[in-house]
Amino acid sequence: MNYAEKYSQLVKTKAKKFGFQSCGISKAGFLEEDAKPLENWLNNNYHGEMAYMENYFDKRLDPTLLVEGCKSVISLSYNYFPKDKISSIDNFKISKYAYGQDYHEIIKETLNEMVAELKEEIGDFHCRVFVDSAPVLERSWAKKSGIGWVGKNANLITKQSGSFYFLAEIMIDLELQEDSPTTDHCGTCTKCIEACPTDAIVSEKIIDGSKCISYATIELKNEIPETFKNKMEDWMFGCDICQDVCPWNRFSAPHHQEKFKPNHFLENAKKEDWKELSQEIFSEIFRKSPVKRTKFAGLKRNIEFLGK
Ligand code: SF4
Ligand code: SF4
Repeated sequence: MNYAEKYSQLVKTKAKKFGFQSCGISKAGFLEEDAKPLENWLNNNYHGEMAYMENYFDKRLDPTLLVEGCKSVISLSYNYFPKDKISSIDNFKISKYAYGQDYHEIIKETLNEMVAELKEEIGDFHCRVFVDSAPVLERSWAKKSGIGWVGKNANLITKQSGSFYFLAEIMIDLELQEDSPTTDHCGTCTKCIEACPTDAIVSEKIIDGSKCISYATIELKNEIPETFKNKMEDWMFGCDICQDVCPWNRFSAPHHQEKFKPNHFLENAKKEDWKELSQEIFSEIFRKSPVKRTKFAGLKRNIEFLGK
């Protein structure tokens, strides 16, 4: 067994040990097949007010410009599918990924621990870890590395566990053995496209972010456009519809991460509690949560819009 094979096996063993659901490896380089689609997506303004998506175009497509000496991209997935859904009876909805504490911090910490153990066994190397936090085309790398395929809802899907997981990457200056992409198993299904209440899935795998409820409730800084009126289906933070209807998600198994569990308030709140939410309670219940991204004013705006 050569070094690339040996290190790759070690990486995968460690990934499992640290609770990652899957791990795949790609050779670092220019993502040629993603360049045109990304350019078109930006030109069509599908990123809405997410101006940061326009930045670092070259780095997004080529990790060797992002991480010095990068030779391989290790893609990892981390399950967030909850055992129990928060009740939607007389309640506003929150995306499952935001039930618990902020995944950025939890997964980054786990990645750093994994890297430290790898260094103990391999010796020193240079790398950077990413969790939805830098100009990285996570789904493209995950697809390339064989973790799953990009579904028509633009989520990464695996046959074994659907799509409710976070993606993360380690960009590393070691030559590793690359994995091959898997096949696409959406087939003739169009459930996600039909279920999207705002027609945000404009064509297969292409989301008009500016029409997406997730964007409107999280990213948008201004007022929610009237075009969303009566289409939000009670989502106050994010939207899981196109994942909930995906047949592959019947294979989702619950996560084992205590920190992803909702707190008492989230488990029990009803619409009335949300409408009366104060800055003080918001700060307390979402202190460590991804929901803090919208800030109190943003969540209040969403709740008021749903009540219109
Ligand atoms: S997250 Fe919701 S609004 Fe956005 S594409 Fe999916 S179903 Fe449509
Ligand atoms: S709902 Fe159907 S078309 Fe959409 S991602 Fe899932 S399998 Fe693919």
